[in-house]
Amino acid sequence: MKRTLFLFTFQLHPLYLSTFELDKSQDEIILVDSDDQWTHYRFHKQRLTLHLSSYLHYYNDLKRQGYQVTYLKTITLIEALIKYPHLYVFKPTNVYEVRWLSLHPAIEYLKDPLFLVDAERWHSLIDLKKSSKLDPIYRMLRQEFNILMDGHQPEGGQYSFDSENRKKAPNDIQFVPPLFFPKDSMTESVIEDIDQRFPAHPGKTLAFQYPVTRADALASLHHFVTFRLPTFGDYQDAMVDHLPWMSHSLLSSSINLGLLSPKEVMDEVIKAYQEGRAPLAATEGFIRQILGWREYVRGIYLVRGQSYLHYNALHHHQPLPKFYYDGETTMQCLKMSIEETINHGYNHHIQRLMVLSNYASLASINPFELNTWFNEMYIDSSEWIVAANVIGMGSYADGGLMSTKPYVSSGAYLQKMSNYCQSCTFKVELKTGEKACPFNILYWDYIDRHKQTFQKNPRMAMMVNVWNKMDEKVKSTIVEEAKLRIKYHG
Ligand code: SF4
Repeated sequence: MKRTLFLFTFQLHPLYLSTFELDKSQDEIILVDSDDQWTHYRFHKQRLTLHLSSYLHYYNDLKRQGYQVTYLKTITLIEALIKYPHLYVFKPTNVYEVRWLSLHPAIEYLKDPLFLVDAERWHSLIDLKKSSKLDPIYRMLRQEFNILMDGHQPEGGQYSFDSENRKKAPNDIQFVPPLFFPKDSMTESVIEDIDQRFPAHPGKTLAFQYPVTRADALASLHHFVTFRLPTFGDYQDAMVDHLPWMSHSLLSSSINLGLLSPKEVMDEVIKAYQEGRAPLAATEGFIRQILGWREYVRGIYLVRGQSYLHYNALHHHQPLPKFYYDGETTMQCLKMSIEETINHGYNHHIQRLMVLSNYASLASINPFELNTWFNEMYIDSSEWIVAANVIGMGSYADGGLMSTKPYVSSGAYLQKMSNYCQSCTFKVELKTGEKACPFNILYWDYIDRHKQTFQKNPRMAMMVNVWNKMDEKVKSTIVEEAKLRIKYHG
């Protein structure tokens, strides 16, 4: 009997067809480009380009291989799917995608083969009513999947080498650039189409150069493992002006689209380590991102649901400043990071956490608005990925369900881990006054505003004590100046 399989733009891996045991001679594959998928969030034009160009390349590829495949363009997803009386779909993680599919009367769901942990299992791993931490789950998955293990012990005697991965990059540092791919004619026409259909979406497409085919994604994986993995660990947390990629893999967009599977990426990385081509700290740091963090944030989203996006434990209600979309700010760390977002739809994780989320937390920005921005602006975003990263880790809006303390800092951390401050109009060493670094003023004001909450937190109490002991005149100057900084952002 003929079966019909619908695949989303992020389900492009060959495993989807092999898991389905698709019979080329009679089964049909449906691909749908519908406006609602691209406007649920006002996605960056490079993210749209990535999804739609990859989808079209995949469609052509399937046709070339003799599959029965139909590509539909509609306003809503359901108006395309409703034409088929019975459909098979690999169940997506995002709540809003499941909601669209629920409008169809006869969908049979299949388990997504690209995740290592089944969706249902997360309900037994994360307790909705309690806080949860990555570490025990990561250890369990390392053991369960026998990844980087030496018998029953972790490779190298410890599960994490995070403390070795926090070096500041020297001024003359050079990195092997990632493997990029010039736009082909199909990508160019997708960009024209996007410009017409979604003119108000943010971001520039001129510099688009990400892989849009499985072959290109495999080539970029090989290039990363060969040339860039060895330095990935050391400078994982460093930030350098005009070096947006450093040694970061840039594989997240390919993994999240299904151009690569997490398993094959981890296999390549571990092979490099076993053959002596990559150090253990870099290998483990990378594996933790894929096996640990990626799976775990999906679990958080599945267990806590969409209401998690509205958590706002610290009662932050300021609107997201306009400069998050145009980069028009004199704060160099934010300006550099946001210009990279606009031009590439990408920042590495420390820019996301310690520049963009840090500032938003200190300036009392509404976490839901920050979460929306993260969903919109990154090529590798998806609601299930962003939620835990922003609501949990980036803004502490869940009140500590994921993190034992907020990830906030004054300018001192940014000075230590980046070279942004060297060319900033603000002075990182100044604590108050017109020229003082806004992160310094806002950091202490943040401690003051939340001192009642934080004095009960063993990891924050020390900072509350420092604040309490500060000179009263300095404290009142900081609080007054912070009001203006939050109002005018700078
Ligand atoms: Fe950012 Fe402050 Fe450094 Fe300027 S001085 S780059 S605002 S941390």
